[in-house]
Amino acid sequence: MNDFKLRLSHISKSYGTNQVLKDVSLEINPGEFIVVTGPSGSGKSTFLNVIGLTDDFEGSYFINERKIKRSHYPKIRNKHIGFVFQLYYLLPGMNVKDNILTPLIYASRKDFKNNHKERFKNLVQRLGIEHLLDKKSDVLSGGEKQRVCIARALMMEPDILLADEPTGALDENNSDEVIDIFRNYVNDGHSIIMVTHNKAHKCVATKTFVLENGGLNDA
Ligand code: ADP
Ligand code: MG
Repeated sequence: MNDFKLRLSHISKSYGTNQVLKDVSLEINPGEFIVVTGPSGSGKSTFLNVIGLTDDFEGSYFINERKIKRSHYPKIRNKHIGFVFQLYYLLPGMNVKDNILTPLIYASRKDFKNNHKERFKNLVQRLGIEHLLDKKSDVLSGGEKQRVCIARALMMEPDILLADEPTGALDENNSDEVIDIFRNYVNDGHSIIMVTHNKAHKCVATKTFVLENGGLNDA
């Protein structure tokens, strides 16, 4: 079991005069699967970007009750956080295999989990993307890109996975498979925060929140 506990305290975030997040607090422990819903434009992606330390914010960010300083954000991101982006952000000139393995380039030796070859094989097989490994990522369909993005995010076995509408481009079978992979991941002691519009996915959540008017409310 992991001992990675994340706590966000009194987080606010504005773009110019548009205040998107207002005094939001959240705690997430190993084995938790948090699902966030909310209307379009309510700030769900902004919230994930803050949790993923890819955007500025006001408020405090703690890991295992240690306050994280801004200068440590890149290290924390590489070491602990996996991100499935809503817009995929795959590297276009690069083939699928290299895209999935990109996180290994940024990992330090001691961050390497020794089973990464097995992990890679298992992920591409479960996500049904074995036949795509040599293709350039820009020729893939939306659903194929989404599955590659999920494999990349899980490659380093992050303590916490942030997933922004990760099944939005998938058919029902692939969507079910992704949710099953996520459920196993949480059962193995990791944590997940997933933004989704799919009501059927709420059943896997250990907690569900609605993001509305800048606040995170119990669903
Ligand atoms: P959601 O993911 O819930 O649809 P977003 O987090 O993408 O919502 O956006 C929330 C609000 O923040 C919207 O009003 C959007 O226009 C604004 N916003 C998001 N990203 C930026 C940005 N980079 N610059 C300025 N405004 C932004
Ligand atoms: Mg969004």
